[in-house]
Amino acid sequence: MSDVGNSTAAVAVGDGPASRPKGVSLRVTGLRKSYGDREVVRGVDFEVQAGECFGLLGRNGAGKTTIIEICEGYTNPDAGVVEVLGEDPQSPSHSWRSRLGIVPQEMEVLPTLTVRETVTMFASLYPRSRDVDEVLGLVGLRERSQSRVGKLSGGEKRRLDVAVGLIGDPEIVFLDEPTTGLDPEARREMWAMIEGLKSSGVTIILTTHYMEEAQVLADRLVIVAEGVVAARGTFEELLARRGGNATISFRLPEGIGSHTALMPLVDSATIEGSVVEIRSRDVQADLGSLLTWAHAAEVELADITVTRDSLEDLFLAIDGPDAHTESQEVAQ
Ligand code: ADP
Repeated sequence: MSDVGNSTAAVAVGDGPASRPKGVSLRVTGLRKSYGDREVVRGVDFEVQAGECFGLLGRNGAGKTTIIEICEGYTNPDAGVVEVLGEDPQSPSHSWRSRLGIVPQEMEVLPTLTVRETVTMFASLYPRSRDVDEVLGLVGLRERSQSRVGKLSGGEKRRLDVAVGLIGDPEIVFLDEPTTGLDPEARREMWAMIEGLKSSGVTIILTTHYMEEAQVLADRLVIVAEGVVAARGTFEELLARRGGNATISFRLPEGIGSHTALMPLVDSATIEGSVVEIRSRDVQADLGSLLTWAHAAEVELADITVTRDSLEDLFLAIDGPDAHTESQEVAQ
């Protein structure tokens, strides 16, 4: 998309992918929201750079939808400052909403219309829309353009939702749980489509409870738990905070006993019977020193495996009941 730079907050410059915009697209500071006497968003801060894919993660009920609806201007905050494309969603200018693309979890569209008719109808709602065929191509639905919406598979329907979200040529797209309910193949197709969207320079706010999805797609992410930011950073930063990013495991021969005292990395090892697990930040160096030791000590390390942490491991590690403190955050 060559004209994403028409935002006051996002000015296209010529480095990186074609017309990669620069600047802050979305900023949330001190955001709070209560329903009744229950505060469900309790002081949330984050910032999204133009052109990045930003992941908003958390379990069901964490507060993600409330935060997103406030950013979209559909819900009023109780406190805090929100700025989306340089404007306050509660009092936006006339054109502001047409610069947003919203892909909600469920979108009602008429089953009797064709794919093309549906996207064309939504295109007519915008002052400046993208070419319908181009958008259908982007979401991989060009060959289904004459199919009735009611005949689409779950994955195709979700891609149609994205097409509707993109047709107004938005500068920022809110993708709410884009792959919930899809089978693994449809999920991967959707990921490939979102990758394509990323390379076009549009800013993406991706809400998901699938850790793998955020790991694959998000440049940076926040994990929300019980209405606060429990962790933030890039995937690598979040993993580094765990004190390693992989586990090396192997079996020692029976009866090796006192030998293990001299084993490298013994301080970061968990030894249960003959099975050793070592948390590692540098797999190549740590494996090297272990193998050198084993060779010199004539110890056979059996069943060596290296398992890289996933975001799921990280999520489980930080989303415990005592984990919700800003002190654990990685600086942005
Ligand atoms: P998530 O999107 O992470 O699943 P939500 O923002 O939807 O979380 O919800 C956060 C909490 O706020 C939940 O406990 C939910 O039940 C509650 N909640 C959300 N919307 C309303 C509402 N309109 N009225 C009362 N409670 C709500």
